[in-house]
Amino acid sequence: MQTYSGEADDRKKEGSGELFGVNTIVHIVPRNPISAAAKTELLSVIFIALVFGVALTRIPREKARPVEQVLDGVNEAIMKIVGMVMEIAPYAVAALIFSTTARFGWGIVATLVSYAACVLTGLAIHQFVVFSILLALLCRVNPVDFFRKITPVMVTAFSTSSSNATLPTSIRTAEEDLGVPPEIAGFVLPLGATMNMNGTALFEGVTCVFVAQVFGISLSLGQQAAIIVLSVITAVGAAGVPGGSIPLLMMVLETLGVPGGGIAIILGFDRILDMCRTVPNVTGDLTCAVFIARTEGCALKLEPMQGWPGSAGSGGGRE
Ligand code: ASP
Repeated sequence: MQTYSGEADDRKKEGSGELFGVNTIVHIVPRNPISAAAKTELLSVIFIALVFGVALTRIPREKARPVEQVLDGVNEAIMKIVGMVMEIAPYAVAALIFSTTARFGWGIVATLVSYAACVLTGLAIHQFVVFSILLALLCRVNPVDFFRKITPVMVTAFSTSSSNATLPTSIRTAEEDLGVPPEIAGFVLPLGATMNMNGTALFEGVTCVFVAQVFGISLSLGQQAAIIVLSVITAVGAAGVPGGSIPLLMMVLETLGVPGGGIAIILGFDRILDMCRTVPNVTGDLTCAVFIARTEGCALKLEPMQGWPGSAGSGGGRE
């Protein structure tokens, strides 16, 4: 903390402490999108991306198509670069753990263990308590039966750390074991793999608070609310690949006035946390698919919640 607190003070003085108020909303609309991107002003970048995306849907298809193809290509290339960097990550992580422990001693290791325990407890509550309640209340299906049937998906997500790599297994399980019709599974699950990341959002929230604490930065209530909003928004933008949320998390930290480089402290643990957070990410997608199938009146292959109002069958047996 001594090493970094000077830097943290400088950051705070740069004015990010007063960023959260009416001005936050005003600053979302950038004067210059390129400079906003260069300064990693995340909300402005997301705002411009949204406006640009909406505009693309409103111009003739043949004009929008080439732009989409270029953007797709740029996205692929950047994902490739991230993939290449991730190849050397195991060695880099070993070096990071070594230098962190050598400089800070065992004390930091104990701190990191409690941080990891906090993330894992949060993920476990979300995975088994929150989803069970949603499945029972909204989908009216038996959560135990659901979790039993999606075990292969959870195992694949855990071992690959990637929502995208788990997608084929998710689609097959949804169609064959849960009874979600292909037209719903084929739409909801790919969308969910890219946009719906419950575990990632939770992890980002805990990590922001943790890194801010390490740097001795106290977060106001407004900043904590901003962490929630930014974590959810950036989790939507995170790629469904191993470590896909790390670059975005750094931007969230910078937006809050916490040095983005502080992420180095947790990188040593990230792979295991990544494996664990990818499980709720894909479980959330499957829960949504089951919910949509239920609202569409499809006959699901899941046991209904006994004794719940409206649980006479888990679906209406759509033709
Ligand atoms: N590995 C996560 C996923 O694919 C993304 C992340 O949180 O880094 O869902």
